[in-house]
Amino acid sequence: MNLAHKNCKKNSPVAAVYLHIPFCQHKCPFCSFAVIRDRERFHEKYILGMIDEIKKRAEWMGAKQSFYDKKYTGQKLLKSIYFGGGTPSSLRITEVDILLSQVRNFFPCSDDIEISFEMNPEDVNPEYLCGLAEIGVTRISLGGQSFQSLSLKKLGRLHSVLELRKAVKDIICSAINNWNIDLMFGIPEQSITMFKKDVEEALSYNPSHISLYGLEIHEKTPFGKNKQIIKWDSEHQQQYEEMYLWAIERLEKSGLFQYEVSNFSQKNMESFNNLLVWSGNEYLGFGVGAHSYVSQTRWSNKRSLKIYQKHLEENTWPVEFEEQLQQKELAAESLMLALRQTKGINVEQWQTRFGSLWENQQFDILNELCDTGRAFWKGQQLCLTSKGMLLADRITVELMPPSISKL
Ligand code: SF4
Repeated sequence: MNLAHKNCKKNSPVAAVYLHIPFCQHKCPFCSFAVIRDRERFHEKYILGMIDEIKKRAEWMGAKQSFYDKKYTGQKLLKSIYFGGGTPSSLRITEVDILLSQVRNFFPCSDDIEISFEMNPEDVNPEYLCGLAEIGVTRISLGGQSFQSLSLKKLGRLHSVLELRKAVKDIICSAINNWNIDLMFGIPEQSITMFKKDVEEALSYNPSHISLYGLEIHEKTPFGKNKQIIKWDSEHQQQYEEMYLWAIERLEKSGLFQYEVSNFSQKNMESFNNLLVWSGNEYLGFGVGAHSYVSQTRWSNKRSLKIYQKHLEENTWPVEFEEQLQQKELAAESLMLALRQTKGINVEQWQTRFGSLWENQQFDILNELCDTGRAFWKGQQLCLTSKGMLLADRITVELMPPSISKL
């Protein structure tokens, strides 16, 4: 029976679905994601586990279906499916297709759904891209990171600069014209000149989107245990700021506008998945370590493959952590998500929605941020400047009402 047909008049209980593919050829020394060394023999069992999870969650959400049917007068459809990892491109096209079909079966999809797929350069080739386009993938996100051999080596990446260039060219020649490239700054031994070359080369390919990430050093990773790297990092903070501020200016000059701290796109080419999640829409994540947010409850899955699969076999949720967000936490989260976006936050609406939470202290901080060029008003919206974006996390904490920051 074609379940897509059966569900065609139903609502999708969420706007976005995330599918986590944890397999990687090897673990990069800076990576803190839920990742497992790829072995082809793991794929089948993992995919069957994910299908089981998708089915169970869909049934669980189905119990709430009448609530959704009553809540929305129009039809509410799934608008985004995001394959992240790990390395989704470690899967065969048939495996990706099976997962996509299952999601489509259980979640009625919008005709213009965005289906994003993360790829590592070494996996990109014309046949694979053609296969992805045929099964409905509409957007590629390429984990390029750098066009400099030294930087790729420092990051422990498996691809070479030549492979990255070939991957970019294959994507440009493919049927998928919405594509992102990830670039990284703050890499050990990366000079400003090297970083500028990375940005210029990426721009020369005219991508529709660039994600620009500062290297973060996580305690439990090999980078986090490497004293030389920690020293390099602490001694080069000023340089990282310079790189970031230069890149914002350069990318905007080239026609890519910044819509979030780390994300730049051509007009109307923002990652739809990002926009949905940052606007507070509900989403479901499947697979190890995946996060979900439904009915003001946030949860994340077990990170261990074995434990994840054991839970599914025993018919229990593979959940590691779950929290019901109270009004104050929702206020904190919406402040944080809005401040990270260039469109900023409507403070008045935010105060009305959550109650008057700010005290004199927060207004003083706000005035100081404006006076020092870190924030500005655009009509009713409070926005961070490029300099403010550098400190977005810290500013969010400072602007948290005291009643929230003590939680
Ligand atoms: S390829 Fe990506 S997900 Fe995999 S280990 Fe490297 S950084 Fe992490």
